[in-house]
Amino acid sequence: MVAAAASVSSGTGAQSPSTLVEVSNLSKRFPTAGGKQIVALDNVSFSIKRGEVLGVVGESGCGKSTLGRTLLRLEEPTQGQIFFDGRDITAMKGQQLKSLRKDAQIVFQDPFGALNPQHKVGKLIGEPLQVHKLGNRKAQALRVLELLDWVDLPADAVSHYCHEFSGGQRQRIAIARALASNPTFLVCDEAVSALDVSIQSQILNLLMDLRQRLDLSMLFISHDLSVIRHICDRVAVMYLGRVVETADTKTIMDNPQHPYTRALLSAIPHPLELQKTRIVLTGEMPDPAYPPSGCNFHTRCQARHEGVDKLCIGTVPELRLHASQSNVACHLCFQ
Ligand code: SF4
Repeated sequence: MVAAAASVSSGTGAQSPSTLVEVSNLSKRFPTAGGKQIVALDNVSFSIKRGEVLGVVGESGCGKSTLGRTLLRLEEPTQGQIFFDGRDITAMKGQQLKSLRKDAQIVFQDPFGALNPQHKVGKLIGEPLQVHKLGNRKAQALRVLELLDWVDLPADAVSHYCHEFSGGQRQRIAIARALASNPTFLVCDEAVSALDVSIQSQILNLLMDLRQRLDLSMLFISHDLSVIRHICDRVAVMYLGRVVETADTKTIMDNPQHPYTRALLSAIPHPLELQKTRIVLTGEMPDPAYPPSGCNFHTRCQARHEGVDKLCIGTVPELRLHASQSNVACHLCFQ
């Protein structure tokens, strides 16, 4: 991989002080019962600055959730390195890993799956404070009230169960719990995807407020570019385990380069772009146990016949800095 811009990892682990997260050549493969390997992440590199929100977008099955989970060591990486706040966390264990859990948290799509329905909200939000021994009982109780206030829930929520709240309120509870240990980094894994559109925007606004207030860095995972563009400073587009394009949000939205990014963007409804041609991706995403050779998008790419067919099928394109200021993995973009 070519280190073409500050946003793409150097792969050396030598972090600039402004970098919070650096991922270098990260791969994750899951063995199958038949002896095959499912390639969930393939040589992924990027960095996230302090206070920055990086969006990760792609179709279901592209590896974005595995990326979030591997970054937090909820999955073990097969290969590569992860640096967090200057520390190599790739092989951390025991107390060091517990300390990482305090600093880096995750909010899932389904708060019901993440929140124990037998516990009241006060206990759910206060649990991380107990696990990490943050303050005495009185301080912990006050902290729970502060967190409820941050997520715009009433103080009396402490004595209620999750099932008594709406979907949006449950996600607020999950966010309060994730913030309890005062993390510097949050992974939001499809955190608004299950919510109605009006509730989605409330939760996005809440996350943006909290980001400002707490100087949070985030990895914001979504299949929906229209959500990503509201909250993210930069975007990484993933396809079949690889990052195929990354740039600041405006560059990607205004001038996408990779044919896959163009197809994703063309699917966003926009009242001022009624004339825009929709690029319809044909075919399914290939089986990650049998990824295509060369550019793994070549089986669905409508652009590859423009003179680069052999390269597309035979050679993996590297992520390189393009004149548009995107880092792109596509042979055609550099012809
Ligand atoms: Fe399409 Fe070839 Fe570019 Fe891949 S490298 S996106 S197949 S043109």
